[in-house]
Parts: sequence; structure tokens; C-alpha cells
Amino acid sequence: MKSLNRRVFLSSSLAVLGAAGIHLPLWARTGAISPAQSSPGQLLLGVDYYPDQTPESLWEEDAQMMAETGITNVRIAEFAWALMEPSEGTFDFSWLHRSVDILRKHKLAVILGTPSAAPPPWLSQKYPEIFEVNERGEKLHPGGRRFTCPTNQTYRQLSLAIATEMARAFASDPGVIGWQIDNEYTLGSSGRCYCEYCQAGFQKWVRQKYHSLDEVNRTWGAAFWSQIYTDWSQIPVPLPSGADPNPGLTLDYYRYQSYANASFNDEQLAVLRKLCPKHFVTTNNVGLPLDTIDERMLYANLDFVSFDNYPGFFKMYMQQQSKSAMVPWDGITIAVALGHDFGRSLKGKPFMIMEEQSGKAGQTTFSPQPDKGQVRLWTYQAIAHGAMGVNYFRWDTATFGTEEYWHGMLNHDRSKSPAFDEIKQTLNELKSLGPELLNSQYDSDAALLFDYDCSWAVKIQPQHFALSYTEQAATWYGCMSPTHTGIDVILPGMDLAKYKIVFAPVVYVLAKDQAERIKSYVQGGGVFVTNFRLGAKNEVSQIVRTPLPGLLRDMMGVTVSDYVPIYSPGQKVKFASALAGDDADVKLWADILQPQTAEVLGTYLSGDHAGEAAITVNRFGKGKAVYIGADLSVPSLARVLMTFAAQAGVKRVEAPAGIELTTRRSEKKSWTFVLNHTSSPQKVRVPGSYRDALTQAAVTGTIDLEGYGVRVLQAA
Ligand SMILES: [Zn+2]
Repeated sequence: MKSLNRRVFLSSSLAVLGAAGIHLPLWARTGAISPAQSSPGQLLLGVDYYPDQTPESLWEEDAQMMAETGITNVRIAEFAWALMEPSEGTFDFSWLHRSVDILRKHKLAVILGTPSAAPPPWLSQKYPEIFEVNERGEKLHPGGRRFTCPTNQTYRQLSLAIATEMARAFASDPGVIGWQIDNEYTLGSSGRCYCEYCQAGFQKWVRQKYHSLDEVNRTWGAAFWSQIYTDWSQIPVPLPSGADPNPGLTLDYYRYQSYANASFNDEQLAVLRKLCPKHFVTTNNVGLPLDTIDERMLYANLDFVSFDNYPGFFKMYMQQQSKSAMVPWDGITIAVALGHDFGRSLKGKPFMIMEEQSGKAGQTTFSPQPDKGQVRLWTYQAIAHGAMGVNYFRWDTATFGTEEYWHGMLNHDRSKSPAFDEIKQTLNELKSLGPELLNSQYDSDAALLFDYDCSWAVKIQPQHFALSYTEQAATWYGCMSPTHTGIDVILPGMDLAKYKIVFAPVVYVLAKDQAERIKSYVQGGGVFVTNFRLGAKNEVSQIVRTPLPGLLRDMMGVTVSDYVPIYSPGQKVKFASALAGDDADVKLWADILQPQTAEVLGTYLSGDHAGEAAITVNRFGKGKAVYIGADLSVPSLARVLMTFAAQAGVKRVEAPAGIELTTRRSEKKSWTFVLNHTSSPQKVRVPGSYRDALTQAAVTGTIDLEGYGVRVLQAA
């Protein structure tokens, strides 16, 4: 449904393309945008560079230093609209050509960014209708970035025009190898727009999805609070309205906003495909746990995924959010790994880090200065999880502007930053490891299922004020990460059959086709592990009228007799011998399970439901389905998940806390990455015989890793 609607929307935006003077693109006829190439065909070990913010007298010196450092490519121009189009329809790429020429002279390939994340003041002044309206109904103002509406046709047309002129100017430039469209969609102060253009776009999207107002009214349950719509133009967006909005409408609005951004991206993509068929095209975003845009939709037609990675900035942000002086690195490390695994799984192939933290990062406040070794470690962590390339953010550090405290490889005075030599070493190591390793695959026996619909529906109605889908997903991922077995982070509709076990927390929204896929996976021998609120809603966000867990009741072999939000401490789960362990605290939720065919593996200890089932396993076909009805405290949850993983045949590699191991494979070779995320030396027993890919030394048994140390071990 999503792709169909998107095609319809893209066709309907032909008027925009016509206005921008572009021929009918291929995708408008076929509904498909074919990739230019599956991988870039060259090493992407570079930096993000801003010639637009650097005196031209320094460009030559910059390029020379970059080349000496071992850098292969730069990304430039993604915030340079004002210089490229100083007034409407007047384009000046002369400075950019000069910059690309200098970079090419030093064998530095260029990724060009289209500048639509930050329009120039002449545009904002002339077209005040382009501004985003946030979820409180407040119009954003110019002066920052990401303050524009993804639906507004004027803004789309102007964005397309500058992208088109850039593409024409650089299509045959031998210095350019690829494109980054826009920058970090939805990552602003407000992730979604609620303006009148988005309202009109939403009305059109709803009409294409549901065809009749009767269907809309039925689907959203508009009879509630007298919301029956009699004209398409009455359909609102979920702005403040005296009470919480309709959950069905709001879920559809989140889907629409994601689609509006992705189709905005695809308009520029179509132009780049047509004018620059030999160049790769991507966009940079961040992965989970951020969930404001459906990244599968965003990257569907792009050549590869590229993400931005700032572990130190993330740590500072988490400390600000939790008002805690200290958020330990462990959790940050796991969240970063989750993002990498998601980035790889989105297209099932290597991804790029378009921006990697290289020093203190920040706008008004600084993140911690990475310790010596941490920048190299973070780079290898990305490579270990499937990255094929990395660009460090940024080359020099701006002496003006909002990000003047976002430190790069050069300090404000152009001296080398504390991590400069470390980055140089890392780039040259990655070059020596070579393209076969960087483009190798990553095999996982286990998968974590992430579903945007569930995440958004839980955000709209948390059910317990402290319940968060992304936190649950991250916790389950973290529980499994000590197995060092490799986890793909997949989305509904992706192939399940290749996994020994699939973990799926809080499957609150469940569509019929996905339920069928899960059932056939288990029937065929898979192990499906899930928890509370399973199947409570269908894909249009209506509560199912059947006993829970709805569509999966036969597969789970249980009926949910009651569901209980927890507001007082004391409830515990006692485990049966198969899961033997200390009684577990129940945190936020308890589904009370009544087994039909399932075996009980845990029971509630107190209250009205004492003795009733909390955890069950059901044999279904050749596989089994596990229901964890209680929101278990983390140590118990980890023990339970790892027990089922071991039973499913997932191998576990033992390693001390803070050590991470992953494996990548090419056709003939495999490499095991051993990463020490702690500042102290560690001893790690490696699970085979290897050759150190950097020193060529033979490696077996127990290895010594220095603080933040890294080993890349090729199987002997
Ligand atoms: Zn809007």
C-alpha cells in the first residue's frame, strides 16, 4: 500500500518536474528508480569539507594535507545553497568547480550534497509559506536549518531546481563520484510538519489510500467524539485540540509525514538518476533508536544507506535528557551497534558512515573529548558491523556559525586535533585491509524485528506512561549483544526464514500479512520470541475484536485473560525449571496468559493473578513461539532471551564485559573484529586460529587488548 501510494504521489508531482524544466523521468512511467550501481566501486575513506566556509587561499593547502593524510574523498556543498544560487534562478557554481578541481588535482573524489536542508534568506523572505509548523501549531522561523515543510510544492520546486542545476553542472565533472541528497531528514527541533500544505497533502494521501469518506470514518472510528467527516477538506492534522487526537488518524499522519519526506527525496533522486547516471546517490540520516522517518522507505531507491555516527555527542545528549551526570559508555556502545546493525539490514548490504565524530562535538555545549583510541575504535565498530566507508566530520573546525564548537580534524587555529594522527592511522589501516573486507557481508543467526507502526502507535498511546517501543527494542537488542553472534535488525515484510530465532518486542500493531509471515516462519522451524501487547491492534490502529493475542492466538497457544499496567512494585515472576533462575521483578506491564496448547515457563507470584502464567512456549509446526507476558527486569530478560537463543542453536562467544566481537565474510575469507570499549587492558579468548590482518601475526588462544584496542583477525 505504501509503495503504491507513493507512486501515485510521485506521478501527481509531475507538474513540479515540468515547472523545473525536467523531462519526464523514467520512474514516472515505470514507478521504479533503478540503482546506478550497487556499490561505489572505490574506497570511501574521507572527510566532510566546507570550502564554502573556508578562505579560498586555504583550499590548496587543505587538499594537499588531506591527500597526505590518506583521505580518498570529501563530501561538500550540502549547506551552500546561498552561494550556489545567490538570487532566484541565478546560479553560480564557479567557486564549486574551482574547489572540485583543486580536490581532484590531489586525487580526492567528491560527493556533492544537494542543499535543501537549509534554504537561503532570499528564499525564506520571498516564500514565507515554506516554513514548517511544529506539533504545537507554531510556525518555525528562518535562521537555523530543517525549518521547511516537506510537502510544500514551492519548496519542492525550488529544491529540485537547485539540485537539477547542480546535476547539470557536475554530471560530467571527472572529480565527482556521487551525491548526498539533503541532510538528516526530520532531525530538527520538530520531526514532523503540521502546516496547511501538509494538511492538504495528507487529505490527498488519505483519499488515495481509502477512496471513500465512509471507509475513512469506519477505519478511524470517527463516530467517537462526533468526528464523522463529510468532506475531504475537513480532515485535520493532529494539532492540539483540547484532548488527545484520534489514534488511527495520528498513525496515518505519521506514515504520511514519513512518505512526504521520502517522496521529497525521490524527486531529487529522479533528476540525479537522469542527469548523472554514473554517480551513486544516497542521503545521510541516523538510525535507531530515532524513529521519525521510515528509513526503509527513505533508502528504498537510493544506492546504499549512509548514516551519521556521534557516540560522544549521543552520550552528552543522553546525560542532558536523563539529567544524569553520568551515562555509562556500555549503553551508548550498544545503542550505536544497534544503529549500525539497522543500517546494514535496511538494504542487506554494506553501508557508509557519512559523518563520523572526530573530536568534541556540539553546538552550544561540548560533548566529551574522545579518549585517545576511541575515534579509531568507533570507526572499527562501524566497519565491524558492516560499514564499507567512513567520512570524518569534519576536516577543519568552523570559526563561526552554530557549529563552531563541532570540532574536526583541524582545530580553529588549523593545528592538528588530538585525534588527527589516530584518524590518519585508521584511514591507512582501512586502506591496507582493502575493498574485499570493506565490502564483505555480515551473517546473523538472530534478528530483532523493528516495526515503525508499533513504535509510532506506542508513542501515540503508550498505555503505560513509561512504556517506549524504541526502549524495549534497544533493551532486547542489548540483552542479546553479549552473545556476540550477530543480530540483524529487520522490518516487517523482510525474510525471516534465514534466522534461527526472531525477537519481536511489543508487537502492538499487527497486520494480517505479517502475522501470516510469522506463522509460516514458525511452522517451518523458526523460533519466535515476543512479549506483552501482542497483536492488540490491526494495521489501521483499531483494537482487534478477538481475544488476544488476536491473529497469533493459535501460534502462541495462549489467550490473554487480562492485561495489567504495573504502578506498584512487588509483582514478580517465578520461573519453571526450564528457565531456572532468581524470581524476576515485573516492571511496567503484565499480560496474564491462559495456556491452551502452550507450556508454562513462568508464573506471577502475587496479587489477583498469583499462580497464573506469565511466560509460555508453544510448539507450532516445526518451530516454537515464546510469549513473555511480563515486562521482566533486564537481567532476567537477558537470561531468558539467551536461553531461547542457545536452544535455537545460536552460538555464543564468551568475552569480558565491554568487549565486542563480530564477523564479516567475503566469498573466501572471514574476519573477526575484537573491540575493547573499555579504557582498561583486557584479555580475550578468541574462538579459532587467525592471522592479524594488520600485523600479519598468527593469533590463537587468548589475546591482550589495550584500552580501546582493536584487532581484525582473518580466519586462518
Ligand atoms: Zn508542512
